[in-house]
Amino acid sequence: MSYVDEVLERVIAKNPAEPEFHQAVKEVLNSLRPIIEANEEKYRKEALLERITEPDRQFKFRVPWVDDKGQVQVNTGYRVQFNNSIGPYKGGLRLHPSVNLGIIKFLGFEQIFKNSLTGLPIGGGKGGSDFDPKGKSDREVMAFCQSFMTELCKYIGADTDVPAGDIGTGAREIGYMFGQFKKIRGTYEGVLTGKGLSYGGSLARTEATGYGLLYLTAEMLKCNGHDIKGKTVCISGSGNVAIYATQKAQQLGAKVVTVSDSTGWVYDAEGIDVNLLKEVKEVKRARLTEYAAARPSAEYHEGRGVWSIKCDIALPCATQNELLLDDAKALVTNGCIAVAEGANMPTTLEATEYLQQNKVLFAPGKAANAGGVATSALEMSQNSERLSWSFEEVDSKLQNIMVNIFHNLDDAAKRYGKEGDYVAGANIAGFEKVAEAMIAQGVV
Ligand code: NDP
Repeated sequence: MSYVDEVLERVIAKNPAEPEFHQAVKEVLNSLRPIIEANEEKYRKEALLERITEPDRQFKFRVPWVDDKGQVQVNTGYRVQFNNSIGPYKGGLRLHPSVNLGIIKFLGFEQIFKNSLTGLPIGGGKGGSDFDPKGKSDREVMAFCQSFMTELCKYIGADTDVPAGDIGTGAREIGYMFGQFKKIRGTYEGVLTGKGLSYGGSLARTEATGYGLLYLTAEMLKCNGHDIKGKTVCISGSGNVAIYATQKAQQLGAKVVTVSDSTGWVYDAEGIDVNLLKEVKEVKRARLTEYAAARPSAEYHEGRGVWSIKCDIALPCATQNELLLDDAKALVTNGCIAVAEGANMPTTLEATEYLQQNKVLFAPGKAANAGGVATSALEMSQNSERLSWSFEEVDSKLQNIMVNIFHNLDDAAKRYGKEGDYVAGANIAGFEKVAEAMIAQGVV
């Protein structure tokens, strides 16, 4: 049995009931076959794949808090510190009822390669809780965040582990968590990113993931003889990534015709009104029905359906496994030329294979959505230097990083005879640097 197959079997046996983690490891290791096979003896002796698929450590803890009725609620908190061979652990905190250890591990594992791809010195980690901020008062969210940080603050620090936002964790939650960290530890340090501008946040961090997604997509299109200008785009989600992806796509001359949330989706033939979307989602924290009610050109549909709309470019920006094989078939039938993942692992393995077989340009999340974490690393640099860079300065660094990421993965794919396979390219390029650092640092 090949080394990759051996390790895959072992990961599945050792981590039962964690299907998302198995899926992420399978996707990465399968696409690393060319580089692993070329160095099999060395990597096997180093047990490199066993080491890279086992987190450095993982924390699971009780998060008790009191709701507005005086009732005590109990959630579970997680932080998985996966790999710090190229820098401090870095990765977001997801607050969503679906969160469990397997989901945090899949995200932390992906984060190792994503962070490496940015070219910045950051390792991989991820955390979160099954707490749902939706429908909670600000006081309840604060009570949860304070309790969560009371435990988490034992494990994080500006030079050890720097969490950030993710699904359900936006500026409000980061603010409450930062306040509690400072209260308990008594230090003012860049321990979280995605902070407010008045207390150490970076300009352009809010926009970074969505903007970065479009910078990389535009470069991928350009290198394949297409121009993003004039293209029709379908986007899923209507959170942080989706909103700023919509905004940048429009700035680049494309037309975005869909967005979605967990209850339904909107088709707006005249193009999404991004200011209205921001008002509904960022200010009112309301459902998309409110968007449709305020916009005569918009149709609201219950359930899923974004990928049934004819488009040139599809940008899944909601959550994992939201673009399935049937969706991929519909996109191909409708003439879609590119899919770039704003979310983490939104496309199933079968859907990805189908898109690639049908010559759809496919940019995986660990490259396409790396703009968020890259700008978080820029926020860390500004915090260390006690400086704040202008929006334009951060945005232009972000643009360079995304263009470089695309060329790195394109080159890596070509070096291993996988031209145009950007999934393989991203995994190989991300892996090379981490593997080299792990080997150089010995058996630790
Ligand atoms: P938000 O919480 O701001 O938005 C998430 C969006 O996805 C919402 O519209 C939400 O709808 C929808 N959604 C969430 N869960 C589901 C579900 N199970 N089914 C259908 N829709 C769902 O999160 P972000 O925009 O920050 O994150 C989106 C994705 O991007 C995630 O995969 C995240 O890991 C990834 N990502 C985010 C980065 C960032 O900087 N924020 C960086 C890199 C990756 P509703 O409001 O109804 O819940």
